[in-house]
Amino acid sequence: MAEFKVARVEDLAPGQMKQVQAGATAVLLVRLDDGFHALGALCPHYEAPLAAGALCRDRVVCPWHHATFDARSGVLLEPPGLDGLLVYPVRIDDGEVWVTIPERPPEKVPPGRDPEDERIGVVVGGGCAGAYAVEALRDHGFGGRIVWITGAEAFPPIDRPLLSKGYLSGEASDAWLPLRPPEFYRERAIEIVAQKATALDARRKAVTLEDGTVVEYDTAVIATGAVARPLPVPGAGLAGVFRLRTLADGQALRQAAENAARAVIVGAGFIGMEVAQSLNKRGLAVAVVAPETVPFERILGKEIGTMMQAMHEEAGVRFHLGRTVQRFEGEGRVRRVVLDDGTELAADLVVVGVGVKPATDFVTGVAKAPDGAILVDDTLKAADGLYAAGDLARFSDWRGGGTIRVEHWRVAAQHGRIAGANAAGARQVYRGVPYFWTRQYGVTLHYVGHASAWDEIRIAGSVERRDFIAFFVRQGKVHAVAGMERERELARLEERMRREGLLTLDGLP
Ligand SMILES: Cc1cc2nc3c(=O)[nH]c(=O)nc-3n(C[C@H](O)[C@H](O)[C@H](O)COP(=O)(O)OP(=O)(O)OC[C@H]3O[C@@H](n4cnc5c(N)ncnc54)[C@H](O)[C@@H]3O)c2cc1C
Repeated sequence: MAEFKVARVEDLAPGQMKQVQAGATAVLLVRLDDGFHALGALCPHYEAPLAAGALCRDRVVCPWHHATFDARSGVLLEPPGLDGLLVYPVRIDDGEVWVTIPERPPEKVPPGRDPEDERIGVVVGGGCAGAYAVEALRDHGFGGRIVWITGAEAFPPIDRPLLSKGYLSGEASDAWLPLRPPEFYRERAIEIVAQKATALDARRKAVTLEDGTVVEYDTAVIATGAVARPLPVPGAGLAGVFRLRTLADGQALRQAAENAARAVIVGAGFIGMEVAQSLNKRGLAVAVVAPETVPFERILGKEIGTMMQAMHEEAGVRFHLGRTVQRFEGEGRVRRVVLDDGTELAADLVVVGVGVKPATDFVTGVAKAPDGAILVDDTLKAADGLYAAGDLARFSDWRGGGTIRVEHWRVAAQHGRIAGANAAGARQVYRGVPYFWTRQYGVTLHYVGHASAWDEIRIAGSVERRDFIAFFVRQGKVHAVAGMERERELARLEERMRREGLLTLDGLP
């Protein structure tokens, strides 16, 4: 244990934070009305320097992906990331701020089983929401058996957003992917069943597994996410035509990319465009085919979509927009993509990214939307003793009204935490603000809120220079905000949106 002088009291006003050094340890020093607090300086998610984020009252928001921490206790308030921050003792002496760094972090006893508790808690789905749900179930005092039906994907769960980014470009290795090591779950007595559920009957509170076993539950979370939609055209089954959802998809695509020179991406959504960029970085000649005339226009509008397209074109990606695929050709393996105007694109590999569908065909006894999404209330409850979380859940939009379904990592994580806590007996309500990010050629685009339609996009800054905040306004209210650079402002805006719901443009830049 050692104590270090890290600052003078007057270095920080209340409401400010900065990174300081305590010996070899980087510390985030925060001054609130009740004094100084010292926390770990880096976000446990991707090691972003938290001092570059926002301090909003007593919440520290990470600049990179908006993980949020309590500035006093270090507790993780909002994912992504799974862990809170270390907290260090602080002492003020004669106008100087001293921080004590222990030799090693305090050891915590993980929550485990209560042998007297005979209940069974089931979590179906070994992805993002499922991973957060099993932890929340134990953390909220559920002492019964936790049976985690993780599906056909390899265990443990992975950081799926990496698949189309660093993992495919080759910058991130396999070691970056797992969310937790397997022993984390063993220590918490979480039973892993690496099978798919073939039926979930919410009326009987029973899940049937591939091998015919039936697991009856007292409380459950379903988090089976979504499956990539196929493209119903001739040749879609040829070797070399890929989708990207699972680790196995990612590994197969990465391997194919090693021996390929030309790739065609079908679909100009976020996954398609991230794949385009990653393959381009690997040196492949990349062409993108999509029916829209401007990529991302439906989500980000024309101006931002055009700028994103320009980023890709500057890097050498070619676009065939306003076009659809008529067929894939090749003998056994794809060699050409034929478009509706007769254009033929040579291809060593093709990636189809044309959207997803909730993976809920095997679920009965719940209310579903026409696309198969499971309808939940504001506690994410789908039926008695059953909560639904992540890509498959249609939930109430407390800010804008109505119901929405979103396919964002952070929302799935928020849902998983709430669903797991409620399955353990808590009564938490989802009042988060949807958030996602995409990284394009070294610049992150952040998107906060949800706007399926708008009257106006008000821009502060310059879209062309890739330094802006865009406000998506409908009937005078800001439903969503997107931006590049400006990370602190965006983190602050999210906090305001969380506290105040829909903002007006008054006082915004
Ligand atoms: C390549 C890629 C890149 C992405 N990048 C971003 C990004 O940059 N930012 C962002 O916000 N979002 C991103 N997303 C979206 C994000 O990953 C999803 O929103 C998130 O993973 C949803 O979590 P989930 O738990 O609902 O579903 P998933 O993570 O898909 O998990 C569902 C799990 O359930 C399993 N399963 C399915 N059926 C069954 C069954 N019958 N029985 C048992 N298990 C079953 C599946 O195998 C899977 O493991 C990306 C998605 C992909 C595919």
